[in-house]
Amino acid sequence: MASLHTFCRRELFQACWEILLDEDFVSAYRHGIILKCADGITRRVFPRIFTYSADYPEKVLIATIKDMGLCPCPRCLTPKKLFSDLGLLQDMKSRLNNLRTYTMTKVIEARDFIYRCGNTVDGVKVDHSLGGGSWVPTLNQFATKLGPLGLNPFRMLVIDFMHECELGTWKSLFMHLIRLLYALPRGSKLVASLDSRFRQVPTFGNGVIRTFANNTSEMKRLAARGFEDILQVFSAYLFSAFDPLTVVITSLSIRAMARTG
Ligand SMILES: [Zn+2]
Repeated sequence: MASLHTFCRRELFQACWEILLDEDFVSAYRHGIILKCADGITRRVFPRIFTYSADYPEKVLIATIKDMGLCPCPRCLTPKKLFSDLGLLQDMKSRLNNLRTYTMTKVIEARDFIYRCGNTVDGVKVDHSLGGGSWVPTLNQFATKLGPLGLNPFRMLVIDFMHECELGTWKSLFMHLIRLLYALPRGSKLVASLDSRFRQVPTFGNGVIRTFANNTSEMKRLAARGFEDILQVFSAYLFSAFDPLTVVITSLSIRAMARTG
């Protein structure tokens, strides 16, 4: 039942894009639209999708792949078991050599098993016709409609630093570090010292880093850019070398990263 629900959500998402990428849009994509520009000159303008910024759960829906499946990446077919090679030269090579390409016939075959033969959405026959690659039996509208016109729906899913690092990994790591600081002897003093240091950081650039008015450790009213500020200050110059708090934070960071990584 849960898998049917997931399937319906994927179908709904792609159905919305089917409506958005209607005949008018596809025609404009192919032939362009004639617009009178601000300088008074009439030009033929071609709408193009260069990037689609989203967090992982949405990327999975756009790429029509399984959420954290055996091949969880929306851009390439690197299996999860090789993720520990991240950062190695061979990993970069294998990722570039195994980019995702869409095979519509496989998806249509899998859908026939569901809609014509009454197979379950995650049944053996459906899985078998999809093959490896953690694909799902939902038609990818980007590939279907704009693929023939040159759009690569997987390339447009760029790495989103804000969602994937600052709001994701960094936020939970920072939270974890604060908890560990509290757990140490005289923990609340260490946290207070961390907060006072953040408060001493002056603004930098034209709104690049704003003042830390609240206690940073409390993480109150923080949007993505707040976490971005903390990360930049944290890594740049807040903790000078050979200072006791730095040693504590650094060793805790390394240990926490080793555990999560
Ligand atoms: Zn990848």
